[in-house]
Amino acid sequence: MTVSSENSPPRVESLALPVDSAWRQGRGLPNALSVDVEDYFHVEAFADRIRPETWPQFPTRVVQNTHRVLELFAEVGAHATFFVLGWVAEREPGLVRQILAAGHEVACHSHMHRRVFTMTTREFREDMRRARAAIEDAGGEKVLGYRAPTFSIRQESLWALEILAEEGFLYDSSVFPVKHDLYGMPSAPRFPYKWRFRSGSSLYEIPPQTVRVFGRNLPVAGGGYLRILPMWYTRWALRRIREREGRSAVVYFHPWELDPQQPRLSGKLKSRFRHYLNLGRMEQRVRELLRGGEFVSLKTFLDTHLAAKPVPATLVTAAN
Ligand SMILES: [Zn+2]
Repeated sequence: MTVSSENSPPRVESLALPVDSAWRQGRGLPNALSVDVEDYFHVEAFADRIRPETWPQFPTRVVQNTHRVLELFAEVGAHATFFVLGWVAEREPGLVRQILAAGHEVACHSHMHRRVFTMTTREFREDMRRARAAIEDAGGEKVLGYRAPTFSIRQESLWALEILAEEGFLYDSSVFPVKHDLYGMPSAPRFPYKWRFRSGSSLYEIPPQTVRVFGRNLPVAGGGYLRILPMWYTRWALRRIREREGRSAVVYFHPWELDPQQPRLSGKLKSRFRHYLNLGRMEQRVRELLRGGEFVSLKTFLDTHLAAKPVPATLVTAAN
């Protein structure tokens, strides 16, 4: 793939994966756990009303909410990857150190929470570099993983993946293989795979969790899906993934989702529904989920996959 300033859409080849019989037997692989560390006013749901210049005016709750997440993980013995917004890492470097000191991984969630497909390649690279520098300066450890705001690496922004590879990232977790009004690439693989670029560089992909039902991929066990959909659905889907496909789950959520006391923002009805519903139930749901198995960081999850079986490769090529 050639990365150009025009953001030319790449053509994706070889997305169909071979059936992997080893996985079907199930090997008790650990689940992957991730947290997108951002505040309640950073979210895409309210981005049409809240300009980034006004963020400093909002009372911040990300530190106390992330502490709550750390306590919960310590209670159940879970480990995770915390994708930290660079804007947060610049202001709260101590929080990055606390996450690392508790034995978790820190990774990059961009700097200004802008969706990738709204940026030029240059803007994307600058935003990512600023965030990575803030996180690495705070924690003193190399950042290996990236998750785009609102899973915004989709067909027209696949160019971002080669930039991440060039910049030395090991993995991405932004390509959600679902159909959604804000994000998604339904044809993308559902389990970890590797992007390979013509330049010779490569990048592992760890997709957020989906369950296959009647020929469609449905999201499960992440953020709003865990919080809003009934818990029987989450239990049913994870059991199906484990028993039918021999796979473990990739889970994500946000610190603000455990905070029913957060200040209420005005916004569209759909946005308020997505953001505020069941905040009071989320902590119990996360606790139940984490007690159901072993949870590790995305880096450890990737290592266990690579040790068990090589990840199938996917090729991304330029359109012309
Ligand atoms: Zn986010």
